[in-house]
Amino acid sequence: MTRGPHTASGGPASEGLFIANTSRPGAAGAWLEIVSPHDGTVVAQVAEARQADVDAAVDAARDALPDWRRTAPAARGALLAAWADLMERDAQELALLECLDAGHPLRDARALDVPRAVAVIRYFAGIADKIEGSVVPVDPDHLVYAVREPIGVVGQIIPWNQPLLLAATKLAPALAAGNTVVLKPAEWTPRSALWLGRLAAEAGFPPGVVNVVPGYGETAGAYLARHPGVGKVAFTGSTAVGRTIAGASAANLARVQLELGGKGPNLIFPDADLDAALAGSLYAAFHNAGQACIAGSRILVHTDVAEVFTDALIQRAAALRVGDPRDPATEIGPLVSHEHRERVLTYVELARKEGAAILSGGRPPDDPALRAGAYVLPTVIHAAPSHRVCQEEIFGPVVTVTPFTDDAEAVELANALDYGLGAGLWTRDLSRAHTLASELATGMVWVNTYKRVAPGVPFGGVKASGYGSDLGFDAVREYTRAKSVWVRTAAGYPPFFTGGPSA
Ligand code: NAP
Ligand code: MG
Repeated sequence: MTRGPHTASGGPASEGLFIANTSRPGAAGAWLEIVSPHDGTVVAQVAEARQADVDAAVDAARDALPDWRRTAPAARGALLAAWADLMERDAQELALLECLDAGHPLRDARALDVPRAVAVIRYFAGIADKIEGSVVPVDPDHLVYAVREPIGVVGQIIPWNQPLLLAATKLAPALAAGNTVVLKPAEWTPRSALWLGRLAAEAGFPPGVVNVVPGYGETAGAYLARHPGVGKVAFTGSTAVGRTIAGASAANLARVQLELGGKGPNLIFPDADLDAALAGSLYAAFHNAGQACIAGSRILVHTDVAEVFTDALIQRAAALRVGDPRDPATEIGPLVSHEHRERVLTYVELARKEGAAILSGGRPPDDPALRAGAYVLPTVIHAAPSHRVCQEEIFGPVVTVTPFTDDAEAVELANALDYGLGAGLWTRDLSRAHTLASELATGMVWVNTYKRVAPGVPFGGVKASGYGSDLGFDAVREYTRAKSVWVRTAAGYPPFFTGGPSA
């Protein structure tokens, strides 16, 4: 049933849409080409979903809903657990897909992407039978209880930067809570989500519970977001598209959950363990070539240590091993696509024009073996808060460094943007750590660490970074709604109208 990333002949494999546990071509017969970011070759083609296909997927999800929501929660959990086991079985294939399609270094895909996706599904497998309601003590004559019910058919739309992990993160809480799902992966990276769909079928999920419809955002994505058969839309992606999703919900009144962009401030104080701050800042800025919503892409460093910290950062950034993501030594692979690389390099040009100093990188590597790939060297830019590179999400291996003089200025700079996803600070001062953790206007704060995520910890942003939580117990709440039930336990019924027939 499953298909490897290449056909036996070595030519590009082709894969269908995944609807009602079957792989099928798109109604329009159109295909998405999956292009290797390492060398620009076409590695696969995937059926492109259009409106008729999204309709078919929503129909399948709606048909599956009555039985699925009545399935014993423990049985739903057992299916999720079996699914996670199959992902572990196919860990090598899944890691290779993240490597070939998204350009993730194979070592990251094996050590991080796949185990994290498995852990997320296991966490929600364990939660499926713990979504408790409550009994509300109203008065002695009534038993009043509130149960958490699934919302129904959920539409989910995800980006390309963590294709497998985000698919697992979206699907698991929705399914654990008893919803059925139509997932639209990003046009550049749909294959790991399709693989997950097939594994769900193999694990025993009934047809229609999990559906995966690769396609373009403007067509399949936008249509799914406004579909009248969808009760909720969960979106991860850019703030601009997030706003259109929220707008579309005015028509179908679907609930909306938005995990949007970020421009994470990373504050370095003079009393910090500077070696730790340096290592953490490199990871925050450059892991996954900076293509992370929670990247620490905006370093704010106290003037007392700005020079020594920046010099060390430049050296360490230049020493990162950029290369073929299949090479186990590679630390930084290509960006997801050539198109995205152009966007990132445009920001470097803009920084130059605005008078910021490019201290390191800012261009493709010299290695001729990487010339056909979407590579950009890790880039450090000394920039002022007014520069656009300090304000806009670049989503690449680009970090800005801006000095500050005291805590108040650090917080002001950190909070100056509309984004509010993650923030970090490095200090040995406990009082400062907790005070700033409270003052930073973000959904997540890391102290003496950065970009840590775990299945049980709420994940989400504020302001232009969206609303709702993708992880933790909060995530299953997002996929349920409260229904309250009043039961009169006392005999009879107290008279409400005082007047009788003769009055
Ligand atoms: P994007 O353009 O917003 O795309 C995200 C998804 O939405 C893709 O599946 C895309 O389809 C689809 N889409 C595009 N236009 C649409 C429309 N009009 N209606 C419905 N769906 C539409 O974002 P991206 O550039 O691919 O991804 C990077 C962004 O995601 C960054 O801003 C990043 O910060 C954010 N992100 C946030 C989180 C988080 O949890 N907060 C996590 C990861 C990434 P196509 O693939 O066909 O374009
Ligand atoms: Mg697009």
